[in-house]
Amino acid sequence: MKQDITKLASSNDISQFLYNIYNKLYEFWGPQHWWPAETKFEMVIGAILAQNISWNSVEKAICNLKRANILSIEGILQTSDEKLSELIKPAGYYNQKAKRLKEFCNFLKREFNSDLEKLFALDISSLRQVLLSQKGIGFETADSIILYGAEKPIFVVDSYTKRLFYRLGLIESEKAKYEDIQNLVMQNLELDTYIFNEFHALIVKHCKERCKSKKPMCKNCCLSAFCIYLSHGQN
Ligand code: SF4
Repeated sequence: MKQDITKLASSNDISQFLYNIYNKLYEFWGPQHWWPAETKFEMVIGAILAQNISWNSVEKAICNLKRANILSIEGILQTSDEKLSELIKPAGYYNQKAKRLKEFCNFLKREFNSDLEKLFALDISSLRQVLLSQKGIGFETADSIILYGAEKPIFVVDSYTKRLFYRLGLIESEKAKYEDIQNLVMQNLELDTYIFNEFHALIVKHCKERCKSKKPMCKNCCLSAFCIYLSHGQN
């Protein structure tokens, strides 16, 4: 039976709805094993580079940094601004992002003795505050670093999440506030790093493969029984 989550009365209903969505996505797509990085430092650099650009472009930039053997705090700090910009050019906004990378590495060196694990040892709230105080790090980047780098339970919201949740009737608009969507999930699911890790990755996978922006592929979609968008005949 199709449901309208906005009309569900109790938080038990919302919780069950979210678990159903998660389970259906997990059964259909399988575990996504995010984040695709060899080290935690690479993960953090990838998250900073990923702003406003596709993951394929980020991969090319990371590959350039590895090839130049500078994918480390000292490597980045000792590389000239021009050279660093050139290497990360595939990730777009390269002058600005080169500056951000250097600022972040300087911050790690100055405040945490170049030890990422010391930063990650902070509790979630302090870690989030510290990350958000860095220029150019917004909610999505900070939360990605907390979830996939520090491996602490926080739900990451992005434009895919907003699209899917809107189509499922979980939010009233794709312009819903980041923290409202995050709270909706975190107040209704167990605070479990594995679930949040897979849930975000599965939402991205589903939206890239099926629930596309212009023409969602609704036929045989694993979420069709829960989808307001489909039941309203908007596909
Ligand atoms: S049924 Fe269509 S609109 Fe709904 S979640 Fe699936 S692909 Fe997206």
